[in-house]
Amino acid sequence: MNCAKCENEMVAGNLLGDRYALKWMPGNEKLTLGVLAKNAITFKSSGMFGRPKVEAFVCHDCQTMVIDMNGKTK
Ligand SMILES: [Zn+2]
Repeated sequence: MNCAKCENEMVAGNLLGDRYALKWMPGNEKLTLGVLAKNAITFKSSGMFGRPKVEAFVCHDCQTMVIDMNGKTK
């Protein structure tokens, strides 16, 4: 995959979380009660004991990361 910003070749890999599912929220959304990410896009874990993981591509030239949203659960 080539970078949308600088068109250099991106490196394929995985963005890994620790204990909780990875989530993405729009910049204008606020956490409910300071912790709950309602209306967020959530990415699934890899199996019962697996870490949250989503495929991502990195461009080291312009420090850009692109996430494959096929791993989202909602
Ligand atoms: Zn780039």
